[in-house]
Amino acid sequence: MSRTEVLGVGFDAVTVDEAVARAGELMARRRAYVCTPNPEIVMAARRDPAVMDALNGADLVLADGTGVVWASKRLGRPLPQRVAGYDFLLAFMERFTGSVFILGGKPGAAEKAARTLTERFPGVEIAGCHDGYFTDERPLTAEIGQTRPDLLLVCLGAPKQELWMASHRDLPVGLMIGLGGSVDVLAGTVPRAPLRWRQRGLEWLYRLLRQPKRFFRQLSLVGFVWAVITGKET
Ligand code: UDP
Repeated sequence: MSRTEVLGVGFDAVTVDEAVARAGELMARRRAYVCTPNPEIVMAARRDPAVMDALNGADLVLADGTGVVWASKRLGRPLPQRVAGYDFLLAFMERFTGSVFILGGKPGAAEKAARTLTERFPGVEIAGCHDGYFTDERPLTAEIGQTRPDLLLVCLGAPKQELWMASHRDLPVGLMIGLGGSVDVLAGTVPRAPLRWRQRGLEWLYRLLRQPKRFFRQLSLVGFVWAVITGKET
């Protein structure tokens, strides 16, 4: 299926429901991965061809960011809606039955996230949990190889998780989803932006106000808007 290109990254033009249906088909076929890039990740991809390849090599690329949807409209190829990674995950879990392995976050975060998932979604069985600060990944990949989860949530932050998924697509997993800070939201240590902020496209501002250290990372938003408007590199 053809993709909608925004600054070199091809996005699937899908709604949340369509994304969930597509992800279900991919999981059944196995060894697929989903990326959820926001403008910050698009800009990282423009700086690093390996990140660009990892994004464009994904089986499903969802527009996680009001900025991406805005850019698609501005470029004359509108995407139907924002599909935030966290919202996509919750919608997917509603219909999911199977095993889940959670990778990422500080030690203990994945276990807390796992408790939330099993409490909220009766169809979930936890295959394993692992923090995202490992030096030797062999025990981790061996565990994934043994448990063969239907779903692997990869929460290593961007672009580390996209690169990791692209280089591990041969793991015996149904579907991998790169979800960044969602592990902390599931664990209950980082709150999601309130609905009204999200509806106004201000989730990025909420996160910036709560975590001012994101300021320099979010400066790339300026470069993103500039590149869309001018069609130029920054
Ligand atoms: N993280 C990790 N390993 C790393 C770097 C980050 O597991 O080497 C985790 C970090 O603890 C956090 C998540 O990745 O739970 C990413 O958080 P961030 O808010 O940066 O992600 P975003 O959603 O903005 O991509």
